[in-house]
Amino acid sequence: MPPFEKSDVLTTDIKEHVSMDEPTKAGPWKHEYIVQNIVFFLYCYIAGVYGVYQCFTTAKWWSVVYMFVVFVTGTLGIIAGAHRLWSHKAYKAKKPLEIFLMLCHCLAYQRTLVTWVRDHRLHHKYSDTDADPHNSSRGFFFSHIGWLLVKNHPEVEKRKGLVDMSDVYANPVLMYQKRNAKWLLPLISFGVPVGIHYILGESFSVCWHLNILRYMLDSNLTFLTNSLAHSWGHRPYDKTMVACQNFPLLLATMGDGFHNFHHAFPWDYRGAELGNNCINHVTKFIDFCAYKGWAYDLKVASEGVIRNRMKRTGDGTDLWGKKLVEF
Ligand SMILES: [Zn+2]
Ligand SMILES: [Zn+2]
Repeated sequence: MPPFEKSDVLTTDIKEHVSMDEPTKAGPWKHEYIVQNIVFFLYCYIAGVYGVYQCFTTAKWWSVVYMFVVFVTGTLGIIAGAHRLWSHKAYKAKKPLEIFLMLCHCLAYQRTLVTWVRDHRLHHKYSDTDADPHNSSRGFFFSHIGWLLVKNHPEVEKRKGLVDMSDVYANPVLMYQKRNAKWLLPLISFGVPVGIHYILGESFSVCWHLNILRYMLDSNLTFLTNSLAHSWGHRPYDKTMVACQNFPLLLATMGDGFHNFHHAFPWDYRGAELGNNCINHVTKFIDFCAYKGWAYDLKVASEGVIRNRMKRTGDGTDLWGKKLVEF
């Protein structure tokens, strides 16, 4: 099991009938630290920085290219797979594509898909409250990585059974990953990329540290969507939400940074409004899969629906943050 896997009990009993008070925003809470996660991430950040040093000194040029390709492959598992396909059901995928995306997700080493999807659905259901696993009301650090260094808030534990996970538990690909996570995730995330890199002729030290660097890039891309995308930016679609968007975030997250749009239309497979797709490589990937017939039933919010929402609840900016003159 990945060191940062938290409690992950399968919850088939959906307690929809249970009435609960609104979760607190950021009530008093005594953290319980998870020491192995703190040590793990501390090591990864240090080793990742050493990987940056090696990129400019001992690493061969093609090793940096190789690391970048592995990094982008990992983003497909997170954004196209865990996020848009399984958390939001924004499109459907045929079995071979599901298996490919599940393996890409293993590469990113972000706990099991079962846990990822459950936490993400909680995030959308209870955004920026104590029932949101990476509650941004607790500050940038907590929503970025701090939430992985401590045990879940009691509100998260209390409400995770309210999330409908029946589709996830009925999916053999996701359940296979969960059953075999102990060996599958370390093998795909560390064993395979380091092994191939080494066979291609790079030194073991460079292979190892560049892969840790790649892992930290994949991780921080996701972390930024939980922290930066819930702290600073404009809100063209719904000004009542904390979720926001800004251009640097779009670049940093490889196209998944239009977060105000995403929280307004979480089921849209593009994760961003039309016009952004030039820098939204995951949307391009899903489009390609749809063209080949591997992905289908792609859900899209129509331009009329988007414009109406902007008019009704937006902050008066356009998708690039410029003031809207007219609708
Ligand atoms: Zn969010
Ligand atoms: Zn989402």
